[in-house]
Amino acid sequence: MHLERRDLQKCIHCGLCLQACPTFVATGQEAESPRGRIYLMRAVLDGRLRWEQAAPHLDACMGCLGCQTACPSGVPYARLIEAARAQVERDARSPLQRWFRQLAIRNFTTPWRLRGLLRMAHLLHLKRTPRWFARLLGAPESVVWLPRSDWSERTDTLDMSFKMHKVPAEGELRGRAGLLLGCVMRVLFPQVHRATIEVLTRCGLEVVIPRRQGCCGALWVHNGYPQHARQLARQLFNAFREVDYIVVNAAGCGSTMKEYPLLFEGMREQRQACEFSRRVRDVNELLIELGYPHPPSLAHRMEKVRRRLTYHDACHLVHGQGIREQPRALLRQIPGVELVEMEGAEMCCGSAGIYNLLQPKLASAALKRKVEAILATGAEAVVSANPGCTLWIAQGLAEAGRPLPIYHPVEILAHAYRSSLSDHGSVRA
Ligand code: SF4
Ligand code: SF4
Repeated sequence: MHLERRDLQKCIHCGLCLQACPTFVATGQEAESPRGRIYLMRAVLDGRLRWEQAAPHLDACMGCLGCQTACPSGVPYARLIEAARAQVERDARSPLQRWFRQLAIRNFTTPWRLRGLLRMAHLLHLKRTPRWFARLLGAPESVVWLPRSDWSERTDTLDMSFKMHKVPAEGELRGRAGLLLGCVMRVLFPQVHRATIEVLTRCGLEVVIPRRQGCCGALWVHNGYPQHARQLARQLFNAFREVDYIVVNAAGCGSTMKEYPLLFEGMREQRQACEFSRRVRDVNELLIELGYPHPPSLAHRMEKVRRRLTYHDACHLVHGQGIREQPRALLRQIPGVELVEMEGAEMCCGSAGIYNLLQPKLASAALKRKVEAILATGAEAVVSANPGCTLWIAQGLAEAGRPLPIYHPVEILAHAYRSSLSDHGSVRA
């Protein structure tokens, strides 16, 4: 993973990416824009600047890839920022800085650590974990911030439903789908996994849940540690050998797994990475691709359920994987659901992995805009397909005094199959 001059040269300085960039919108400064960051990377390559000087502006990038979608010139921004960050970690960080950043990533991506953090906060009887406590622990505050009732509810039911290794398909068998449990998803969102299994089996897929699966490496690669991500990817290659599809319900993980060929570029495992990535599907994407049984109409019911929902585009779903229409199509087709678009649905909420821990000011500015856009729709609930966004947006809504339930699209579909929509979202703030 190297910073390539030819990638940087694709930028024609047109500025069409600027308004798609949350850090430029928040600061109005060129150095906090995609064009400015590309300029800084070139300056380092040309020897006019050192990585230490460029680092603060590269660190402030959310890695949301809004610029990559907006760019008419095909600048591969994801590749550029990942390569630049790897260089910054190597050349411009002190050992202490590296230690803290790696601690934060490990705390977020190791289920037993994450569970331990939640339990520690629980034992200290903190009703809502203060920011200083989250930062001291090296964990994104939206995670340890979860309301206490939610901690015990979630961590106590941990993995209960995944004892089963295989779940048979309903009706005619259409293939085998391996489910990625992920790190945050398995600890904090087991109900989304249950819903995913339910909709996939109704779709005619046998669901396989390999026991020996770990993290996808997304946070490592996004924060400049591709070597750690490669080790984790190799574990997944082994775990998902025998399935037709590798199904992911967290946008950041799916996006990274589709980019494994880039992670292994020029290495002997590149072919294996390509074969693996070809089988990776976001669950929304796979349902639309294969077709699924439409949930029953509620017209026969005495009371008509009608829910006004708004959908937040997770960056690594919309910009990272180009999945924009599939979750919307899925939601629109559910009887009783009214989908209202929020302004700036594709703009990053500021969660961005551990970004809200490392860059709290800019993350909070992005969150404020997102919360205002959600509330302006008058929606009763929010839909999000990424755990980081879900937690962060829940925090923003609660702080604004307007808590709303937040669902994953498959939860709504699973609810619809059961012919009722519950009042409980993935997160109740
Ligand atoms: S990835 Fe997002 S935050 Fe970073 S430069 Fe591009 S648009 Fe801006
Ligand atoms: S839109 Fe693309 S080409 Fe134009 S300034 Fe931004 S990165 Fe460069």
